[in-house]
Amino acid sequence: MRKPLLFTFLFILLLSCGQKGRRFVSATAVRPASYAGAQPRFKALLYYSDAVEEAHRQFSHQAIDFFRKLTVGDGWILEADTTLTGKGDLSQYDVIIMPDVAPGSPSERARFEAYMENGGGWLGFHAAGYNDLSTGWDWFRTFLGGVRFLCNTWPPQPALVEVEKHAVTRNLPQEFVCPASEFYQWQPDPRQNPDIEIIASLSPKNFPMGLKDVVFGGDFPVVWTNTRYRMVYINMGHGDECFSDATQNLLFVNALRWVVSGAPAGNPFER
Ligand code: ZN
Repeated sequence: MRKPLLFTFLFILLLSCGQKGRRFVSATAVRPASYAGAQPRFKALLYYSDAVEEAHRQFSHQAIDFFRKLTVGDGWILEADTTLTGKGDLSQYDVIIMPDVAPGSPSERARFEAYMENGGGWLGFHAAGYNDLSTGWDWFRTFLGGVRFLCNTWPPQPALVEVEKHAVTRNLPQEFVCPASEFYQWQPDPRQNPDIEIIASLSPKNFPMGLKDVVFGGDFPVVWTNTRYRMVYINMGHGDECFSDATQNLLFVNALRWVVSGAPAGNPFER
């Protein structure tokens, strides 16, 4: 081999080793050593409906996009479906996410009830918690904290939210302005139920709140958990602005993570 050719060959070899080296370094830099080959940590079902009012349909589809984006890297599995009855054994899911609709048919209600009573996890938003005298599902009302819809604010608007000290809010500011949503007030006040831990409320500084439907005062919890179950209810979830704020998005991620971390098989984030 002539000398110039030999130098060229060595140079290319060196360059190629260098590139391999860089690829190796960057691959280990972005993933922990224990990640390679690991199974997805948990499995979620997002239950939604398109047969709902437009603002709730918008939120549901944005929720699918938001949570699906969090699965990038195959860290967990998200399935989205409009039925609970065609999904096999629901115990395969660590959490069922419900943006804006709760089960309506007797068979779906029975399946969800059995799932929750046997350690299932629930992250419900906005209209997924809606119930009134016509709902006819006593178990669900008790599950939510024994509360029914009392009144709402209208039109949807941003609001000042105060957070309580809780694992779900450990990295949130004490107050933040959440994006526009419709807010429900409940009767009786969920705070009166000893099984309920309030996680966030609308600040009294918002009152009077609303332009058409006006709420003048009173306790206004918007995020809570029933300590008898592995669940978080979040009142936000109306329209297409709910995922536009980093603080609120962090609350959503925290709530998902907290519900999942109590899975009967053990905290999947510690495995
Ligand atoms: Zn709504």
